[in-house]
Order: sequence, then structure tokens, then C-alpha cells
Amino acid sequence: MTRVASGEPPAPLPAPLPADYKSRLRRRLLAWYGRSARDLPWRRTRDPYRVWVSEVMLQQTQVDTVRPYFERFVEAFPTVADLAAADEEHVLRLWEGLGYYRRARSLHAAAKQVVAEHGGRMPREVAGLMTLPGIGRYTAGAVVSIAYDRPAPILEANTIRLLTRLVAYDGEPTSAAGQRRLWALAEELLPHKGAARFNQALMELGALVCKPAEPLCGECPLEPLCRARAEGSIGRLGATTKKLRFTDTREAAVVVRRGPSVLVRRCGEGERWAGLWDFPRFAIDAEGPLFAAKELAGKVLQQTGVRCEPGALITTLKHGVTRFRITLDCYEAAAAGGRVRKPARWVRPSELADLPLSVTGRKLSKLIL
Ligand code: SF4
Repeated sequence: MTRVASGEPPAPLPAPLPADYKSRLRRRLLAWYGRSARDLPWRRTRDPYRVWVSEVMLQQTQVDTVRPYFERFVEAFPTVADLAAADEEHVLRLWEGLGYYRRARSLHAAAKQVVAEHGGRMPREVAGLMTLPGIGRYTAGAVVSIAYDRPAPILEANTIRLLTRLVAYDGEPTSAAGQRRLWALAEELLPHKGAARFNQALMELGALVCKPAEPLCGECPLEPLCRARAEGSIGRLGATTKKLRFTDTREAAVVVRRGPSVLVRRCGEGERWAGLWDFPRFAIDAEGPLFAAKELAGKVLQQTGVRCEPGALITTLKHGVTRFRITLDCYEAAAAGGRVRKPARWVRPSELADLPLSVTGRKLSKLIL
């Protein structure tokens, strides 16, 4: 594609793309990747299980955050069979802090299915992988292409943005029509050989160069091929259009003590931290110990079966989960009777180290220790 200097619109990109456009794009992209690829632990392996774990961890999470989690996880569960045999609490404990815990529970469930139905071997086809819990078309394509080096296209946040700009796709990339167009494009650009390297290079370029707010077009190997660059439409293409609207909420967590023990409960299905443990916790209306005591006692009783006398405010934590901005008041309380009901139980504070806790549950446990 030639750059347009005079204000004339650039010539439209033909569909399907010409063979020489695709071969130039592949050559340029792969040469750049050879120079610029980051050395990441999951790139040193072709083990489909490890590729899968890394791809699941990387969903909605930054590379630098994932790195230590990935290393700890595959050290604890080196094979899919080890993961399948693990206790869910151990899996969640190693995932603690990474967020989106449903990913960990699906990974664990899928590992059990791989062992039960596939003899411990990961399926080699996109369709076979997509029968496993938590694996969609993107993750399946990533495992098939990266681990088996077979031509399966991929489309995730970074490549959606990059491809949208490359062809100056004017529609909404996340709409059904947009997804059809971009998946077709990802497939069209993919070479028959070397899919592992190509897909990783595409994601890497999206992450490092074709950034959401300020793409580094001057450093981009695809600049001469990029239609958005040619027509000057980068500003409106590929950036996140939907602004998240936050909802402010107030919640309380209560550290109920009975002698040397504290009361915790396992969050149930449908709750925000399903599978993890936490102190009794709920939304509250009242603010401050004087006003909240009755409400706290009633809700602790409702959640756990334990009667308590709420005391001082220990601390207030602020944190965000998806669209919620939460102010969490953490109170002390003394047990005053009742009978603990599952999934709540009494534990010694030292046992909290082995339980998977919500992020605020972990902060609070450190405070009370
Ligand atoms: Fe993205 Fe700019 Fe490269 Fe186009 S030239 S692909 S907008 S970084």
C-alpha cells in the first residue's frame, strides 16, 4: 500500500487480499518478531498443557502479573494429570490474587475431563479442545497453533485492535459482523506453515507496538501495509469505545472470634469469589460501628448460623471488582452463641495461610495476624 500525501483517500484494500500483500506482511512481521520477541516462560515450551495454562492466565491479565503465577502453577502441577488430581483449594490458592477465579475452576474441571476422556492427552483439534470447560475458539486456536504449530487462527484483544487498524475496519469489532470479518481476516493472513510463530508475532505486535491509546506507528513493521495509518483513521479505530461505568457500593467484612479461632466461610456458586474463603461479608446500608452493629449481627447470623456482638472497626479497604468500586468496612466481633453452619467454619488464624482467600480476605487476615 502506498501512503497518500495529497489528501486523496487511499485505494481500498481488495478482498481477498493479494498474495504479495500477505507475503510482505508475513515477512515483515516475522522479521520484527525475531528482533523484538520477549523471553517469556511459556514461550520456552511447546507443551500443550503449559501453553493452555498460560493462555488462560493471560486472559484479561498483564504479562508481568502472570509470569510468577505461571511459574508457581506449573511447578506445583507439572502435567495435566497433576492438575486433575489436585484439590480445588490448592488450585485456587495458587491462583489467589490473579482474579477471575472462574478461569481456575474451569481449568481444573477441564484437566479432569482431559484425563477422564482423553487419556491425559490434550486434544489436537480446535473442535476437540472447545468441548472442554472454559475453552473458547481463541484459546483452542492458541493451543493448536502454538503447541502443535498447526494453522488455526486466533483473535484476542491485541489482534482485534491490530487487524481492525490494518484493514481500517469501520464497524464495531466486537459485534457479530465484526467478529466474522476479523476471524476471516486472521484466517486469511495465517500462513500454512509456521502458525505458532506467526500468531505469537501478531499478538506481540499488538501488545508492544499497536497499543490502544498511542500506537507506535513509527516503529511498526506493518506501517507500509496499514490502511488506518494511510487514511489517518487510527484515532477512531481499535481504541476501547465503551467506557466502564462504575457503581459505588459499601460492604462489611466481620472477623468473628471465638477463643483463638476466627470464623470464615467458603463462597458459594454464583457469589463473586465462588470457591474461595472469606470472612463473613455482605453489602451494608449503615456506616460506622455504632449504627452498623445490629445489621452486622443479623447478617453474620444469616450467613453462618453464628450469633455475635460486633465491636470496633478494624480498617476500611477500598478496592474494585469489574464495574464495582467497593468500600469495605472491616469489623471485629465476639462470638455469642449459635451453631456454625456449612460452608462456614472456625479456623485458627495460622490455617488461613493454606486457604484460598479473596484479595481483601488475605489483606484482612494479615492485619489480624
Ligand atoms: Fe498499528 Fe500503527 Fe502499525 Fe497500523 S501502523 S498496525 S496502527 S502500529
